[in-house]
Amino acid sequence: GKGIAVFTSGGDSQGMNAAVRAVVRMGIYLGCKVYFIREGYQGMVDGGEYIIEANWSSVSSIIHKGGTIIGSARCKDFREREGRKKAAYNLVERGITNLVVIGGDGSLTGADLFKQEWADLLDELLKDGKITPEQRKKYNHLFIAGLVGSIDNDFCGTDMTIGTDSALHRIIEATDAIVSTAYSHQRTFIMEVMGRHCGYLALVAALTSEADYVFIPEDPAAIDWPDKLCKKLMQERNVGQRLNIIIVAEGAIDRNGHPIMAEDIKKVVVDNLHQDTRITVLGHVQRGGNPSAFDRVLGSRMGAEAVMALMEADENTEPCVISLDGNQAVRLPLMECVKQTKAVAQAMADKEWEKAVQLRGKS
Ligand code: ADP
Repeated sequence: GKGIAVFTSGGDSQGMNAAVRAVVRMGIYLGCKVYFIREGYQGMVDGGEYIIEANWSSVSSIIHKGGTIIGSARCKDFREREGRKKAAYNLVERGITNLVVIGGDGSLTGADLFKQEWADLLDELLKDGKITPEQRKKYNHLFIAGLVGSIDNDFCGTDMTIGTDSALHRIIEATDAIVSTAYSHQRTFIMEVMGRHCGYLALVAALTSEADYVFIPEDPAAIDWPDKLCKKLMQERNVGQRLNIIIVAEGAIDRNGHPIMAEDIKKVVVDNLHQDTRITVLGHVQRGGNPSAFDRVLGSRMGAEAVMALMEADENTEPCVISLDGNQAVRLPLMECVKQTKAVAQAMADKEWEKAVQLRGKS
């Protein structure tokens, strides 16, 4: 059978374990040898005990766990050609030519580069006497399927990334909890949520928790946002509301591109309205806890589809990323999606917000 390795790389997210489980079980079901690579690319470069064969039961009782049981890491070595050469050797030695990479756009970019260099790396390993001519010939092609694990939902091409739904659950649980204490004391709460350049979490959290105001990076606040905010909060209080909830994305900005921090908002509310105002920064709680049913299903479907894609690949097949498109698992060209995602980040950096939203498309 074919050799497949699965690894998780970059920031973790809930639902990665479901994907790992599906890759292992679908792979074994189809007669492949499936390996875990622990600690992301670092394990691939270091080899040894970091690359271990998985069996059916090694992925039992993991679907309900947050994070990733095989570990994730950021790896400097893999950014260097020498590191990637070591990684290639470790894979060839075990007969692995199929990779399922679960990570963000950085991890997928690294995988694509690895594929482009693969044949050259093997030539060098042959010249160094590290691999045999038979191995050089047999393992001529590297096949890659990517899955996007990220709570931010910041990747182009997929409706949802693995972990986003669970992160939203964490946020609304926390917001609901805050609402009851805010009500008792007639307080205003400012909740800071994650998402770097993507306001998806903040926007959906605001909708689902009946927040009074939301700040997101894609729709920068007008320069006179303090006036607008105060007016809105006063309106709500004047009709008898006992509390206010404001959601701010960590990357929120104004029209000049200046960051809007929770502290800035608090100062405006306290100075102008003299409301008892508190800040809650949710932080890594959002990346923790058990995955939701949606993320378990998403990870499972994507993991299974990744193995199918690898089984059907031939020497002309380009790396793909498994995406969700209208509740269908689809295969899209990996580098096109990565490029589009990077173009969005660039447009945001250039303060071309409308362009960024258009480029991001549905997701
Ligand atoms: P994410 O995958 O969540 O975007 P990073 O950008 O930190 O996270 O990437 C994770 C890892 O992927 C890096 O630590 C590095 O090992 C590898 N990687 C990222 N970009 C590249 C690249 N351009 N070339 C080689 N490896 C890369």
